[in-house]
Amino acid sequence: MGSMEEECKGEAVAGGMKARAWAAKDKTGSLEPFDLQLRAIGAEDVVVEVLFCGICHTDLHQLRDDYGSSRYPMVAGHEVTGLVYDMGDEAKHVFSKGDRVGVGCIVGSCGDCSACGEGIEQYCKQKKWTYNDVYYDGNPTQGGFSDYMVVNYRFVVHIPKNLPLDAAAPLLCAGITVYSPMKFYGMDSASKGKTCGVMGLGGVGHMVVKFAKAFGLHVTVISSSPSKEREACEVLGADAFLLSSDDLKMKAAEQTLDFIIDTIPSVHPLEPYLDLLKVNGKLVMVGVVPGPMQFVTPMLILGRRSIGGSFIGGIQEMQEMLNLVAEKDIRCMIEVVPIDYINKALERLEKNDVRYRFVVDMTGKAFEEEG
Ligand code: NAP
Ligand code: ZN
Ligand code: ZN
Repeated sequence: MGSMEEECKGEAVAGGMKARAWAAKDKTGSLEPFDLQLRAIGAEDVVVEVLFCGICHTDLHQLRDDYGSSRYPMVAGHEVTGLVYDMGDEAKHVFSKGDRVGVGCIVGSCGDCSACGEGIEQYCKQKKWTYNDVYYDGNPTQGGFSDYMVVNYRFVVHIPKNLPLDAAAPLLCAGITVYSPMKFYGMDSASKGKTCGVMGLGGVGHMVVKFAKAFGLHVTVISSSPSKEREACEVLGADAFLLSSDDLKMKAAEQTLDFIIDTIPSVHPLEPYLDLLKVNGKLVMVGVVPGPMQFVTPMLILGRRSIGGSFIGGIQEMQEMLNLVAEKDIRCMIEVVPIDYINKALERLEKNDVRYRFVVDMTGKAFEEEG
């Protein structure tokens, strides 16, 4: 890893390294270069040289202050892959320089509560978000659109050798967001042959297709985009495609699905989708909708249906998912872009113009030859 260190651009300064990041200064959400002071490396910290960072729709929500809780300057990005550049003494028990690693949506939790005890630290009340949060030392947390990050080693995972670091990046959020509820709600190989729908074929949604197929489920994409039909079936491997605006086909598909995962990021009616569920069917919401949603209760009652929710997954579960993805050779479909394309990529993401995840090449190496 000598060459990696020689090429390193991070500068050691009093307190910690300085990183070159991209930050939004306000709710226009437009990113620009930003000098970021990282914290000094603590005993449990890992310094990650960021090579790739995916762009999740949550980044868009946060950058544009859709939830009214955004803090600026904001360095977004929580689908991070890279190499271990340095680490504190405690972290050395688990990581070595040059290890291929990933960081997802959270970078801290209390370690004491029942959620932490159960390995579902994503539900810890004192968890720390990777960015747009205040860390235990009182400083803002900042995300992966940066050349380096300092993260407690308990929130860093190993990326298996046969997973390319660019295509692995979306697994750190989109992948685990799908894998965790699929396991929890019983949409895994124990339900082989059952039917699963996914609302919204974007970064998260396309991972539903990938995992559902890996678990042996029959998967239907329910989409607002007719242009995605061919690719959904021929490339991603979906078994069926339903255009949500096609009332006749939606009616014909009533009571055919055991499960649905809803990834739509904006307010939408639930009734047409609840109608697709069989008796005892489950609809799991993962889309973070910035507004109240409505449905009439007989939609649930007259079919013993349920609506649930789910937020990413635990760190151990994330490692389990990465190992399974490596074993089964599941691949995210990505579009790799350079960092100076990021504002354009966010614009395109907002317009639903990405197949299916933008991944930023933070070092620009993928573009050097073209350039
Ligand atoms: P994305 O890539 O933008 O995909 C969302 C998909 O939803 C789009 O591709 C589109 O699919 C559909 N869609 C978009 N706007 C729509 C609209 N107005 N009406 C109907 N359908 C629409 O977003 P993502 O990164 O997958 O994220 C999806 C949501 O999950 C976001 O709200 C994000 O914040 C949330 N999220 C939650 C978690 C969690 O842990 N729960 C983790 C990650 C992300 P079609 O073209 O097929 O209709
Ligand atoms: Zn995300
Ligand atoms: Zn806790």
